[in-house]
Amino acid sequence: MGANIKLTTIGDVVHHKGNLRVECRCGHRSVIDAAKLDRYYTVQRWSTVLEVVGMHLRCSSCGSRGAHWRITLEPPRGPRWGPQTEEAWRFLTARLRNR
Ligand SMILES: [Zn+2]
Repeated sequence: MGANIKLTTIGDVVHHKGNLRVECRCGHRSVIDAAKLDRYYTVQRWSTVLEVVGMHLRCSSCGSRGAHWRITLEPPRGPRWGPQTEEAWRFLTARLRNR
């Protein structure tokens, strides 16, 4: 990943096979699966612009927002979140479609 590559959305990170490494003020760290995050935000119809996403990520340990994040090539690790199966994805998508 060169420094000259412009990454604007989560989709751009996915395209470059990256993930989001997040570090909270409380010291909690995790690496978020960018492909899953992209899908989750798209289903929710939330903005996938990285600056916006970064402001909304919430620490699973202390609950605060505004953690530091950066792009990483490390594999995802940390607590499980969001839909775990295709069926769960379908359920979430169907539920959101009707609001
Ligand atoms: Zn925290």
